[in-house]
Amino acid sequence: MIDLQKLIRPNIREFISFDYTPKEKQERGTTHIMLDANENPYNKPYNRYPSENQTTLKEELAKLKGVKSKEIFLNNGSTEAIDMCYRIFCQPKIDNVVSIDPTCELYKRYAILNEVEYRPVRLNEDFQLKASELLKACDKQTKLIWLCSPNTPSGNILDVEEVEKVLNEFTGIVVIDEAYADFSHSRNFRERVSEFPNMIVLNTFSKAWANAAIRLGAVYAQEAIINIFNAVKAPYNISQLTQVQGLEALKHRYDIEDWNKILLLERKRMINAFSTLACCKKVYPSNANFFLAQMKDAQKVYNYLCEKSIKVKNCSNLSLCNNCLRITIGSKAENAEILGILRYYKPTI
Ligand SMILES: *Cc1c(COP(=O)(O)O)cnc(C)c1O
Repeated sequence: MIDLQKLIRPNIREFISFDYTPKEKQERGTTHIMLDANENPYNKPYNRYPSENQTTLKEELAKLKGVKSKEIFLNNGSTEAIDMCYRIFCQPKIDNVVSIDPTCELYKRYAILNEVEYRPVRLNEDFQLKASELLKACDKQTKLIWLCSPNTPSGNILDVEEVEKVLNEFTGIVVIDEAYADFSHSRNFRERVSEFPNMIVLNTFSKAWANAAIRLGAVYAQEAIINIFNAVKAPYNISQLTQVQGLEALKHRYDIEDWNKILLLERKRMINAFSTLACCKKVYPSNANFFLAQMKDAQKVYNYLCEKSIKVKNCSNLSLCNNCLRITIGSKAENAEILGILRYYKPTI
């Protein structure tokens, strides 16, 4: 069992016990005359602060995902949730976190910004983790373990049994970033929130939900953890515009399913086509909306594509990714264009 009270940073623990606002903040509702928050009476409907608890959006999301509203915390994109995990659990200069390597670069970025030691543990050649190696890197100041599945830039799903081992044996918090889970049909950890009291799952509207512009993400965890996020969040943290568009996205979930079907077909087509390119050595299988390709000379291909006004991600600086490019699956037309251009690529020596 985990001791949540002991895992939280002392200042946050104190703040929560002394904070004058209750954990589940009151909705203001629409009373006849609202003169309590120094809002402007003009410019309806944008003059009022938005729903503090995003009740409607959370209820719709809860129905769709098969969890309780109280097991959801909404944020301005997973990027913010990553920062919040550090702020809630890690004492600067004292605590540390353990992470798989390579993975999403945001975990390291926010470790640095929060002055928390970051301990990357190298994955094996197939980008798989060994629970024992992650656990070996932990000590009593390790508060978080970062996992990402499907992982980026590799695109693979992490071995479920190894992840379960980490969840069962680590006495701190395990964060599983499932930003790309909706592109795969495998069982995800979000559906298993009730099993693991020390698990935080991150989802985002930016990828499979095709709403990166609105900056909306969701944390799924047991109520005790969600309460802490609610207590420390900025007041009115999700804008009215975002809440409205978030609901709209949920209404259009069948469009999104259709788009995802096309993207998965395109992924198959792109991976097959890339493996036949002269400039490409190896393509890794993917469970996400991108794939990793090892090139003969990634920098040259990258520069060539830049000249043609096509942007991909050069991952050569990441562990196990020497000469690798990460290519997002675009529209059919975009995919056809990059393939056409790469077929004409001639390496200059
Ligand atoms: C895109 C991405 C994020 C950031 O998501 P936002 O909700 O847009 O902030 C976080 N983690 C991973 C693994 C991602 O791919």
